[in-house]
Amino acid sequence: MFERRHTRQITVGKVPVGGGAPISVQSMTTTKTADVEGTLQQIYALAAAGCDIVRCTCNEQEAAEGLAQIVPRSPIPIIADIHHQYRMALAAMEAGVHGLRLNPGNIRKPEHIKAVASEARDRGLPIRIGVNGGSLDPSLYEKHGGLTAQAMVESALQEMNYFHEVDFTQMKISVKASSVPLMVEAYRLLADTVDVPLHLGVTEAGPPPAGLVKSTAGIATLLLEGIGDTIRYSLTADPVEEARAGRQLLEALGLRERKNVDLIACPSCGRAEIDVIDVANRAQAAFADRKLPLQIAVMGCVVNGPGEAREADLGIAAGNKRGHLFVKGRNVAVVPEDEMVDALVEWAEFINEHGVDAAIARVDTALAEREAARDRSQLLNEKGDDANHAGEKIIEIRKTVGS
Ligand code: SF4
Repeated sequence: MFERRHTRQITVGKVPVGGGAPISVQSMTTTKTADVEGTLQQIYALAAAGCDIVRCTCNEQEAAEGLAQIVPRSPIPIIADIHHQYRMALAAMEAGVHGLRLNPGNIRKPEHIKAVASEARDRGLPIRIGVNGGSLDPSLYEKHGGLTAQAMVESALQEMNYFHEVDFTQMKISVKASSVPLMVEAYRLLADTVDVPLHLGVTEAGPPPAGLVKSTAGIATLLLEGIGDTIRYSLTADPVEEARAGRQLLEALGLRERKNVDLIACPSCGRAEIDVIDVANRAQAAFADRKLPLQIAVMGCVVNGPGEAREADLGIAAGNKRGHLFVKGRNVAVVPEDEMVDALVEWAEFINEHGVDAAIARVDTALAEREAARDRSQLLNEKGDDANHAGEKIIEIRKTVGS
């Protein structure tokens, strides 16, 4: 739908980044890396949630030693996040990581930067130049009169030059800031200047929902301009939420194939026969870790639900304290209200395995259609056409305005 900017390709483990590769999702573990089992549990949960590449901190010797045990058991490539000590970068490479992240604001001595890049070059490992608005080299703040997009890009280019001096080319760059307009400007400037893959993110975005909104605003804006090869949501939350959000954004933009359920739900109205928010939340939780590339609808009533969500692969609408299941808008079964979510899961798994036609053929749809028609007409009798009483309100408004 929109053209992606051309970048060179690098690989992180087996995951290609840039050069037209699918945009990858990244996250970062929050455990102590020395806690091998705890970190691996989190990595497995992240991989299940759609994370392609994971970053672990490597801030001390114990962390590097932990990485030596974690890397061979990880289902996805691991990047070591290096803070101030370049020796930790060397130790992480020794541990077998698939890549490094260096912050140019933290490791500043050219000989240290070049020592790390030379070692990475010899091992064929990529490095992310991770510029962060909050930890820029003070001399760049001074030169640019504060934190600006130009200052962040200059920081990245300086680091790149050190890399080039030792013939290191396997790099990607990020220029993250906590301000969305600033990070968008910095990435646009960078995209005009270099052809290396870009890692997108809004740093310190905070807890959801504000953190999700800020991250989505920045990342989606750039992706829609064709900028960005890999992304990370930085949330003050369980990192699994970061991975899910990243994956969902790419699926919503059509940049990655749907892997998980796309849950849609009606906004609810005076006609709703159930607590739509509660059922939708329970359905979301039930489908969270199931790899079912289906669109599934939760609708508040049988009067309009199956019709409004006729494009969904599967859905459920409430009527008279029971749930009417429908497949592609056709009623297929009626279940008790407290079994609605379980029934959705069972039908979704059947459709995923056997397809929509087999699901419709599996039951007597005439029976379900009769039941739905009965509930629909009963609800229309009880609540009429105007379940929200909009007509009555309009009469009152006219009286108020007219008086
Ligand atoms: S009419 Fe029914 S399906 Fe539509 S919003 Fe109201 S409750 Fe939901």
